[in-house]
Amino acid sequence: MQKRRLGRTNLEVSVVGFGGTWISELASAEAARVVREAVDCGINYFDTAKLDGDSEEKIGAALADVRDQCVIATKTGSRTKKESLEDVQSSLRRLRTDRLDIIQLHGIDDEKTLAKAMGSDGSLQTCKKARLEGLVDFIGITGHKPRVLTKAIETNEFDTVLVPLNVVTRQALEELIPAAKEHDIGVAVMKPLSAKTSTLITCLYNPSLSLVSDEPELKALLGQDSRSMVGSALRYVLAQDVSVVVPGLRSVDEVHIAAGAGEEYSGLTLEEQERFNVHLGDYCRDCGLCMPCPQNLNIPAILRFQTLSNCYGLKVWAKKLYSGLEVKADKCIKCGQCTEKCPYKLPIEDMLKKAKTELQS
Ligand code: SF4
Ligand code: SF4
Repeated sequence: MQKRRLGRTNLEVSVVGFGGTWISELASAEAARVVREAVDCGINYFDTAKLDGDSEEKIGAALADVRDQCVIATKTGSRTKKESLEDVQSSLRRLRTDRLDIIQLHGIDDEKTLAKAMGSDGSLQTCKKARLEGLVDFIGITGHKPRVLTKAIETNEFDTVLVPLNVVTRQALEELIPAAKEHDIGVAVMKPLSAKTSTLITCLYNPSLSLVSDEPELKALLGQDSRSMVGSALRYVLAQDVSVVVPGLRSVDEVHIAAGAGEEYSGLTLEEQERFNVHLGDYCRDCGLCMPCPQNLNIPAILRFQTLSNCYGLKVWAKKLYSGLEVKADKCIKCGQCTEKCPYKLPIEDMLKKAKTELQS
């Protein structure tokens, strides 16, 4: 497995890592088999979280005898000193280790949460103290909003950042990844195979948002079978300036496919470069700052589907996704509240009008 340097941590990590969310659904023996297969395939980066069911326990048990060959990145979803101290202690216990390679502030998706976590009573203080005490080597941050994460890493408090990035979700490429490079912060990528970024529950549990599906348009974009689709989607991410891509893995087969993509990676082919080369223009960055809408429109979702249709040519798929929204674009009463709040000065009302014409049939 190829390795890359994880920014200023100087850790050498496999280009494909192991996303530990899904193994909480497996029986213990099967989870151990999947994790060990990943080790045997050369994966040395394991991402988990206290909030991911018993993922930490399963990873801790499976890696106990190879702990020092692996980089374990876990997370605290607590925002206060006291609660996050409990998280660090329980993560150490559950992962059966005396030190965490990386502790990440989990799911920092808005500035208020960021300010709380970084405040004088915030979880960052606990992470820094744990680092001083030798319980933690490095501190990272995770979230779904590149704009918020960019603000966070510009404080220079973090060594790594974990963010969604995939062939149809490219916001991180604009500001966040260049800023990470400037500060020598390691970039790990989550959700390389999922089209949704902003609502965690939908993202993780709604299979219709997976890029690996039978949708003919997605097959045309990524490949004709699941192996080639996964390979293509992971190669797109690896072609960016990132250290490690972390797909959620839940079977030995999935481990083989993902690890194979990392093993064989040698850049995008010319044909792939052309296929993935889209012009996004003035598109919605999914920052969510235009919300809430008095009519309960999910503006970022509608505009995301519009981007999938317009920029990526995924017209049928975008219509299907749009049809699942409870409130459609025609409910907009043109109050103008959203436009005032959009930091990218997008003409949201006009964009919604177009979405209505193109997606609503
Ligand atoms: S202009 Fe339309 S979409 Fe924007 S806030 Fe008003 S009702 Fe909602
Ligand atoms: S429309 Fe503007 S404010 Fe709303 S999510 Fe998109 S980029 Fe953000």
